[in-house]
Amino acid sequence: MHTQTLIIGGGLSGLSLAYRLQQAGHDYRLVEAHARLGGRIKSLDVNGTKFDLGPSWVWPGQTRVTQLVSDLGLHLFEQWSTGDQLYEQPTREVLRNTGFMSMAGSLRVAGGTTALTDALAARLDPAKVQTNAKVMSINDSPAVELADGQTITAARIVLCLPPRLAAQLQASPAFPSAALAALRAIPTWMAAHAKCIAVYPKPFWRESNLSGDASSRCGPLVEIHDASPEDGAYGALFGFVGLPADIRSEAGAALLPAAIDQLARLFGPVAKEPLAAELEDWSQAPLTSTPEDALAPPGHPSYDMPKAVQDIWQGKLIFAVTEMAPDNGGLIEGALAASEKAAAQILAS
Ligand SMILES: Cc1cc2nc3c(=O)[nH]c(=O)nc-3n(C[C@H](O)[C@H](O)[C@H](O)COP(=O)(O)OP(=O)(O)OC[C@H]3O[C@@H](n4cnc5c(N)ncnc54)[C@H](O)[C@@H]3O)c2cc1C
Repeated sequence: MHTQTLIIGGGLSGLSLAYRLQQAGHDYRLVEAHARLGGRIKSLDVNGTKFDLGPSWVWPGQTRVTQLVSDLGLHLFEQWSTGDQLYEQPTREVLRNTGFMSMAGSLRVAGGTTALTDALAARLDPAKVQTNAKVMSINDSPAVELADGQTITAARIVLCLPPRLAAQLQASPAFPSAALAALRAIPTWMAAHAKCIAVYPKPFWRESNLSGDASSRCGPLVEIHDASPEDGAYGALFGFVGLPADIRSEAGAALLPAAIDQLARLFGPVAKEPLAAELEDWSQAPLTSTPEDALAPPGHPSYDMPKAVQDIWQGKLIFAVTEMAPDNGGLIEGALAASEKAAAQILAS
């Protein structure tokens, strides 16, 4: 099989790049290792209502995502933050309104962030998108070989996957050592984290004038927010797990019930009986994380495209992933910035 532009990775960067190329009438193929598209954008489905297991928020001023949401016939709504916040002390005593951890002013995509990737995927020519297609090796002809032995040749290849995973690909010739070092040095945003979601028939905490925002010094959840759908058809709370990746891995299946117990300590006994609950540990997701990602970077890295990777294989290999975005690196907006830059480069060549 041959194509002009082969896109590796069907997260938001890859999907939005495919969409831009398709709109410009440019020939492309997209291959994604998972059975599903979306990458770090993933949701728990409860009777057709989607709850974010990856990203939840976008922010005012992020013009690309705002435009895309509108182009796709979707809309944004404000993160729920009305009511008191809770704080759980190390003694498990719960205090009201100690005043931090609200995400007021953040915006959510109606229908969940997977509405974005689903809507993009639905607009792509299905014949050009292949799932269950893991790229194992890549060469400068350029061509790739998939796990099932299939070979795809292209005029150029775009890597829309976390840089540390790109460094793991078997490349021929091998990437220059400076490029490999640069790729390995880029932390995959949020890959060290785990997110827990609990879904209820309604957002019952709002009736007690609680916003759903909580922070805790006990854990296992350290930061909790309302994750209910816009229409209030269900209530949902999500929390980030505060334990490091290795301790989470040791705790295993005990972690989710411990998180639900904690929600009941904070929000009352009704929280003990969710309709559905899930814990997504991104450090255990091999198509997102590498062992180096188990430790979160101390703050939000200042992402950019390192010089050492800018001209591998004379422009036949391009990187377009949020961690290499010209702005908003690591974020949803960054994924769109990265694909915008790559599309401009491809369409100009
Ligand atoms: C828990 C969590 C919370 C977050 N919160 C926010 C938030 O609130 N706001 C925000 O803006 N951002 C947030 N983010 C970041 C956001 O999810 C990312 O910026 C965005 O999803 C990255 O998209 P991407 O396409 O660049 O990369 P990815 O989504 O990582 O896509 C890479 C794709 O490549 C595929 N792949 C990997 N290896 C191969 C291979 N060998 N062959 C073929 N395919 C392969 C993967 O399966 C994946 O589909 C969060 C992330 C997480 C995990």
